[in-house]
Amino acid sequence: MPKSQARPVQCACDTVYRMAQEPDVPLAFDQSTNEYHLVFGVERSGRAVIYFCFSCGGALPNSRRAQLFAVLTSAETRRLRVLTRDLRSIDDAIRKLGPPDHDLKDGESVLSPGSETEPDYVQTYRTLIYSQLSETADVRIVERFPHGVGVEFVGKYIGENK
Ligand SMILES: [Zn+2]
Repeated sequence: MPKSQARPVQCACDTVYRMAQEPDVPLAFDQSTNEYHLVFGVERSGRAVIYFCFSCGGALPNSRRAQLFAVLTSAETRRLRVLTRDLRSIDDAIRKLGPPDHDLKDGESVLSPGSETEPDYVQTYRTLIYSQLSETADVRIVERFPHGVGVEFVGKYIGENK
């Protein structure tokens, strides 16, 4: 954080804390990350992190998320980029990298928010996940239409609750 930027004032009212204890309220405290989540969707599977108290505007506890995931060094990112830069398609990826650890037909999904005249639009893409290519990152190969693939390096989970 730059020096000129003041630290946000911490929440002192405990409203979010108290509401997260109520079973009927779509809020939850996640002990593994030290975060409050807005919970929504089918079987309450949707999660959005809440950083500020909606009652007093103060900052909620700092997340421990960074301690849960391996750090990707720039050298490792470069190595993985070289390894994956010539991939042209999902089939090409399987040919060059071998069979993936996971092949998700409904993998990454992207939401295009609607407007006053258009509905929300969600597209899902076939996604390959490789866990063995790197000590610190999972490599995700995401199909892109009409052609090509997107490549993502995602820090591995190193927390306790595997
Ligand atoms: Zn508050």
